[in-house]
Order: sequence, then C-alpha cells, then structure tokens
Amino acid sequence: MVLMLGPPRPDVAAGDDAMAMKEWSYKERGHQLSPSSWNNFSSCPRKFWLSRQRLPRKAGMASAIGTAVHNSVEDLCNLDLDGRDGDEKGWLPPTANAILEQQWQAEKKTFLSTPRHPRWKQEEYPRARKLLIGSLNILFAKARTGQIALSEVSVAMWRDIQKMVLAAEGTLRTTCGRLMGRLDLLVSDIDEDGNIVGWIVADLKTGKPPSGELYDTVSRQLRFYRDILCENNPDHPPVKAEGWYSNGSVVFQAEGPSVLPEAFEAWEASKITDTPMEAKPGSEACGFCEWKAWCPAWVWAQAQGELKPSGIFRDMIAVLEKVEIENGICLVERMAPLDEDGNLARTGQRAGAVFAGQALERLKSLIEEGHEGPVFLGGVRLDGETWKLGDWCDVLPWSPLLQGIKRD
Ligand code: SF4
Repeated sequence: MVLMLGPPRPDVAAGDDAMAMKEWSYKERGHQLSPSSWNNFSSCPRKFWLSRQRLPRKAGMASAIGTAVHNSVEDLCNLDLDGRDGDEKGWLPPTANAILEQQWQAEKKTFLSTPRHPRWKQEEYPRARKLLIGSLNILFAKARTGQIALSEVSVAMWRDIQKMVLAAEGTLRTTCGRLMGRLDLLVSDIDEDGNIVGWIVADLKTGKPPSGELYDTVSRQLRFYRDILCENNPDHPPVKAEGWYSNGSVVFQAEGPSVLPEAFEAWEASKITDTPMEAKPGSEACGFCEWKAWCPAWVWAQAQGELKPSGIFRDMIAVLEKVEIENGICLVERMAPLDEDGNLARTGQRAGAVFAGQALERLKSLIEEGHEGPVFLGGVRLDGETWKLGDWCDVLPWSPLLQGIKRD
C-alpha cells in the first residue's frame, strides 16, 4: 500500500512518489493550523494572532535540544547502510555521536542567528545525548529487540529498525491544506510474535514525561496526526497514536474520538484578522508567552488586579533614566498602564538595575539604535532592591501592536 501523508500532487502519477504532495498558496487555503498553533489559539487568541505578525522570534534551549535529537533520530533512520556487513557491531555509538554533533552544531547556528536568544548552553550536550539514546531505546522496544547496548546493535538489526520505520519526519496535511502538522515517526506496529498488526504514529518528546495521564493538549496533538493520516489513507490498518518520551524511554498512548471536526472549527475561528484578536490574560497563558512586548493586555490585567504576578521573576515596563553602559548599571523608572491600548504613565517608582550577559547585549543594541521611550524587561529577578537582568531576560522596545501586518 502507498503511504500518503497528504493529498497527492496532480502532476505525479499514483504510486510514483508517496511523498509528492500538493502545495497550496495562502490565497487558496488561507492560514494553516497546526497542533501547536491550535494550542496557542485555545490558550489566548491574541497570542496566536501575535505569532502570525512576523515579529522577531525567540529561540529557546529546550526546543533547540529537542530539534537536535529529532533530527538525529531522523538521520539515523534514513542512514545509508548499503554494502555494510550485516554482522558488524560497534558502529552505532560513534555514528550516533557524529550525527548528534552535526545536528547540535546546526541547531547552535540557527539558535544564535534567531533575533532573540538567550545564552547557548553547551553544557546541555550530555543531556541531548542521553535523550537520543532514550529515543533509540524506544525504537528497539517497538522492534521487539529487547534491551540492548548500542555497541551490540549490528548493522542487520538496524536495517530491521529501518524497515519498521515507514516515515521519519514528514508533513501531514488534510486534503484542503488547512490543517497540518509535522509527523516525527510512522512505524509498523509489531506484536510479540513479530507480526505487523498496524501503524503507530509517534511524536518524540524530549521534555519531562507526565506523572499521570497525557496532558489534554498532547493527547489532542497525537490524535490530530492519527486522524489526518487515517483520512489520507482510507485503507489504513489499525493506527495507534503515541507520545514517545525520550527521558526515561516512556511511551503513552492517546486514545479517543477524531479531533478533526473540532480542529476545523478552530481553523474557522482563527482566521487571521487585521485587528488584534481577543486577549485572554492568565497566569498559565502569559507565563511563557513570548509576545508580551507587543501585548498591552497582560499589564492592564495586572493593573486591574485580574492577573497577579508571583515569584521572584517579573515582567516590567520601564524607562531608562540613567545608563552606565560599560558597567551595565541603570537607573530605571517603572511605568504603569493608562489604558488597554498600552499607553503608559510614570509611577515615580525608581530602582537600580544591573544588566549582564545577553540582557546587556540587548540593552547596548537598543541604545545604539537610538531607542527612546519605555522598554519591556521580561523575567527581571527581584530578590533585593536591585533589579537583576541576565541571559534569560528579554529587553525589547515596548511596542503594543494594535493593527496587523498586511497580507498578499
Ligand atoms: S501576554 Fe498574555 S494576554 Fe498577551 S498575548 Fe501573551 S498570553 Fe495573551
């Protein structure tokens, strides 16, 4: 059977190239909704809207590690082993190391060229290696190989794994092109007797596994992949959707009805508008939102007492009164919102602030660019009288966005 991740390209004969998919222009299909953009939209429509405004993106170490591990698994699954002796052992550890090192360097380059990025944590490399091994151990378990040291894996055994993997990284799309997602792995479901009994759509997770059941958003994401795959392959065998947590090699299965009707409703509701979508400030939604410098809603909600800041890391809007750039020392005055549109007033609350690392670099850039006016300071450490800003902080011009970008 020919596996289809999306609808076929009209110019490719059926069976010629299972991966040749039709592409749509923005005009033909409108925006695209993926599981992560659906999650953004559900948690706060404004967050989703801001993510579509071509604002400078932020890189994060956790996702860089995840991508390096994902790409390494993909490369290993697609490795060309032609002409190698099937009995050869000891080849996998150095090969996996070399591939991970290559992917790590590629990720580092992307990370450092992303407009907003913290410090690159080279010390996380051993963790990435551990996660790659954790991912490979899940593949061995799925192939019914049993527990095995990487150095004991023969070329023949890896060929069997490669046969089991039906697709490693691919874009899944519905026939209309509106729903899409990145599939990590599609593998044959092999029972204890070695029989193929179906397919497993697997999403590799490099974060912490849940302590109980899968989070609803993760279950929805896994079923989203499963349901698009089933829709595109009407003659499909039984399909399971699984989250493969590399950390500890734990597998969770997502079960339940199709999420596609709900996803199409979300697509309708999330059509991009010229004016900002509704903001739903809340501690969870705003907690890791990367668009605060462009969103006036969180600070207004704080001023109204609807959103209570907590912990020692706080987001602030301030003006820089005096700057000693060579020492990274500033006198800042905190600003408070006047309205829901992000207009601000002085508060008279002044403090000393110490900028270091990436925060100091950002501050220097702002000053070089001649920025005047309020700045958004994300994640200021407040454990004394002085504000402390470092690698983890955002330092951006305060720029509430009240009108969307024009689209073709
Ligand atoms: S800061 Fe909060 S309210 Fe604003 S876009 Fe982000 S999640 Fe929504």
